[in-house]
Amino acid sequence: MAPSADQKSSEKERSRAASGRSEIGRQEPIGLVPGSKSAEPARETEATGLSPGLYIVATPIGNLGDITLRALDVLRGADAILCEDTRVTATLARRYGLDAERIAYHDHNADAVRPGLIARLAAGAALALVSDAGTPLVSDPGFKLVREAVAVGIPVTAVPGASAALAALMVAGLPSDRFLFAGFLPAKSAARRRELRELAAVPASLIFYETAPRLGDALGDMAAMLGDRPAAVARELTKLHEEVRRGGLESLAEHYRKAGPPKGEIVVIVGPPTAGLAPSEADLDAQILAALQTASLREASAAVAAATGLPRRQVYARALALQGKRPPPETV
Ligand code: SAM
Repeated sequence: MAPSADQKSSEKERSRAASGRSEIGRQEPIGLVPGSKSAEPARETEATGLSPGLYIVATPIGNLGDITLRALDVLRGADAILCEDTRVTATLARRYGLDAERIAYHDHNADAVRPGLIARLAAGAALALVSDAGTPLVSDPGFKLVREAVAVGIPVTAVPGASAALAALMVAGLPSDRFLFAGFLPAKSAARRRELRELAAVPASLIFYETAPRLGDALGDMAAMLGDRPAAVARELTKLHEEVRRGGLESLAEHYRKAGPPKGEIVVIVGPPTAGLAPSEADLDAQILAALQTASLREASAAVAAATGLPRRQVYARALALQGKRPPPETV
């Protein structure tokens, strides 16, 4: 049940607020992690209580074994667990014997319940926020709660763990030194292409969350706007039917157009533009012709320019030539 702003805090919360102390919280460091170079003391992992504050706790993205010992301690020691969906978190609770109160905190009730949660935190509660899967705040609720907690001086602690974006990056086989997480693209093609155009020149791998029914169209738009870059579709990570399909955006789009939407949850990773490695003339022509299959002359030129690092004017002029047209005077 959603708490209200005037909800009474528990005995545990009141005594914690009064003493400002806890068994495994900030004020009572236990020791250093063996071999750790950090001067930061380790916290004990046997849950007997928590410092007051908001704990952002990552949960598994499929395989329930992917939860950390510390996450379990925090979820056991918290006064309540704020859940994107209490029924989903119930599965985790059953598996690990978590009996803390579960409170719904999701996009539809967040504005209404947030003041009550902040009041409860201010009164000394230790509350843990989880989403249905993975890391809260990553395409999931939690940002405004953290922002408000920070604004009023409530300690916010990360309990890191699984995230589909990073799990996909780990297996994609694409450059991982620089990446941009772009979340979900718009559902409609025109808006999706606009957003992709903005991302085309970013010199980094791009990470997208995508839904199965939209995958084929989204890959097609990516190929049209980003060029035929190397990419990977990571599906059902950590689950029974885990699969990673790697290839150029064109061939991935073609595959899913023919095969139809796959089942399950999906992350798409796209490699960075290959600026600096100028393509051969034949490669350039092939890329332009492929892009022209699904995009306008302007869009195709922009995509190939972004993918190759060549000036857009040069690609546009070549695309016109390939279509047997002359460039207008101002473009040469
Ligand atoms: N906060 C979560 C995280 O840290 O990964 C993501 C939440 S977002 C609402 C859900 C999306 O994450 C799915 O639509 C899918 O794109 C991706 N996702 C989640 N679990 C996945 C999995 N096991 N394999 C592949 N993608 C997954």
